[in-house]
Amino acid sequence: MGQKTIIENLIANGVRGLQPYVPGKPIEELESELGLSDVIKLASNENPLGPPASALAAIRASLDDLSLYPDGSGYILKQALAAHFSTDPQRITLGNGSNDLLVLLAEAFLTAGTAAVYDQYSFVVYRLAVQATGAEAKVSPANPVSDILQPLGHDLDAMRALIDDHTRLVFLANPNNPTGTWCNAEELHAFIASVPAQTIVVVDEAYGEYVLHDNYPCTIDWIDEFPNLVVIRTFSKIYGLAGLRIGYSISQPDLAEVLNRVRQPFNVNNLAQSAALAVLQDFDYVERARIMNSQGLIALTDGLVSLGLKVIPSIGNFVLVDMGRPAESIYTALLRTGIIVRPVGNYGLPNYLRISLGLPEQNQRLLSELKTILEKIN
Ligand SMILES: *Cc1c(COP(=O)(O)O)cnc(C)c1O
Repeated sequence: MGQKTIIENLIANGVRGLQPYVPGKPIEELESELGLSDVIKLASNENPLGPPASALAAIRASLDDLSLYPDGSGYILKQALAAHFSTDPQRITLGNGSNDLLVLLAEAFLTAGTAAVYDQYSFVVYRLAVQATGAEAKVSPANPVSDILQPLGHDLDAMRALIDDHTRLVFLANPNNPTGTWCNAEELHAFIASVPAQTIVVVDEAYGEYVLHDNYPCTIDWIDEFPNLVVIRTFSKIYGLAGLRIGYSISQPDLAEVLNRVRQPFNVNNLAQSAALAVLQDFDYVERARIMNSQGLIALTDGLVSLGLKVIPSIGNFVLVDMGRPAESIYTALLRTGIIVRPVGNYGLPNYLRISLGLPEQNQRLLSELKTILEKIN
């Protein structure tokens, strides 16, 4: 037997079928492939403003602590987050990115014989986290494209219908990635209220800070009411710190305590904790990002529609666009012009591209290159 086969046979059951996560193409990789120098990446929903100056200053100030282990309890940052949300620090768990928390939830609550529910068009990490444990993944169908308000959005009734006695976790992103769709306060509250107490509902609000709608749920206020609710947030998106890897969850303390048992003792590094603390108080940066994003959403959506494309209405920092044909060749053509967007064939959406909002001039560059590409095809 070859070494490959021996190793293959040793793999834990849940891990055997896993395919690694495919990240957006890195800028440096494309620049060296094409000999370009002005590549833009609109592929990973990062903040185009770049890292906040407040965070950079905090990082510089904490560099001398690099020989020390970080504060494993994240004491100061948890205090600040608790004050920010008018809640209790015991409800907060820090993670090495919110990805860490998604995996910790799966490790803590899933085993073979249990199940987790998530939407057919949802963050790929849910699938990876669930499958690795050997638990069953129950994938709920999304709304049809013909749904006027929320095409491809979460069908909460369909999700509810999949929950049974074995279901330990439900993962739901709001706003959702990759669709940009969202659930309003009434429907999400009714959904969570309908879920049995032995099933934990994980509401992933990675893009929550971008949302300006009055009717967007304040889920953190529901944690007293629902002991089985976990809200996940991140510093990777509006806070502009994706490279540092820091996110957090908010839940009742007993659930936080379970995550505390399975996490690595020092899962969030010094620099990330300092930077997060700084940007949490940096209201100017966040407000600038939010305003630029809401203006960019309108401009980019209008521009794409005027190219004859169908855009799923989004409230995140990205849009999902129906190219009306297999999108891979358009993705490649955009790459040749130095623009990286995200193909979503791996999400089951081969005709779509997900485009993150950039700076206004980057959005314009995307629209004009796309116009040229589409004119050549048509
Ligand atoms: C980007 C994203 C995250 C953030 O992941 P981090 O590990 O915090 O960088 C989480 N959930 C969803 C749905 C996302 O799109």
